[in-house]
Amino acid sequence: MATGFIYHPDYLLHNASISHPERPDRLRAIVARLQESGLWGKLHHIQPEPAERQWIELAHSAEHINMVEDAAESAPAYLDPDTHVSRESFDVALLAVGGGLAACDAAMEGRCRNAFAAVRPPGHHAETSAAMGFCLFNNVAIAARYLQQFHGLERVAILDWDVHHGNGTQHILEADPSILYISIHQHPLYPGTGLREEQGVGSGIGATLNIPLPGGCGDSEYAVAFNEIEEVVSQFQPEFLLISAGFDAHHRDPLASMRLTADGFRQMTKRALHLANQHCSNRLVMLLEGGYDLIGLSASVEACLEEMMVNNGG
Ligand SMILES: [Zn+2]
Repeated sequence: MATGFIYHPDYLLHNASISHPERPDRLRAIVARLQESGLWGKLHHIQPEPAERQWIELAHSAEHINMVEDAAESAPAYLDPDTHVSRESFDVALLAVGGGLAACDAAMEGRCRNAFAAVRPPGHHAETSAAMGFCLFNNVAIAARYLQQFHGLERVAILDWDVHHGNGTQHILEADPSILYISIHQHPLYPGTGLREEQGVGSGIGATLNIPLPGGCGDSEYAVAFNEIEEVVSQFQPEFLLISAGFDAHHRDPLASMRLTADGFRQMTKRALHLANQHCSNRLVMLLEGGYDLIGLSASVEACLEEMMVNNGG
């Protein structure tokens, strides 16, 4: 079975009026690299549709959705010091959520075994009622709840290896024992949350695992941390594995100071695929989050996709 790749040229339309690290060139670099290496022609390409509002409301208040829509109408605007909207941003954000949902559909319906959603804007900092940290809607939290509500799954796991803590994903899901959220991130660093002690709320206690690491960690430290990730995921026995796949822990990235290589991302992908094989009937979807060095980003995405395809026997 093939590896799915979700992309839409309209993802390039979300654009700040001044230079901003979360820029359309990120996706251009990924596409160019996959085309040059020949991987592009071997992927199962899926064109996403804008997500319906009912799915966005699984993770966000109606007021927040209206606020993003209104902000785009009066664009350019900033929703926080880091988070811009251009005129097309609301529609592009719906399409980014839709990209995650299309990847989940393809894996659930057996059209591909695993999939990578190359979406913008990213999502893991977006809170129930606030845009934050380049993120408008929380693509991965919505995808997790969609898998439950639309596809009838009970237990979903999210692994977030973006270098920043996914505060939005954690807060949206922290009281929910049916969705496991694991974040491995640099600490201290923006947004400042993601301490070990944050393990969930109420009946969700135990379904949040934070692994904060000091700056300077590389492939070997992440490999050690992955032992704990494997143990916790195996205990939880998810039916689907979502990955908030940020690539800003790459050693070239300008926004953080981790030292992962593209091969480090390959090794994590290999181990995540093994978990998906053991527990999730191979169903694994990566949603792009951060990653701001174009070479580090595109090389790392390519390494992940190669591994996803190898494990398909293709
Ligand atoms: Zn990040």
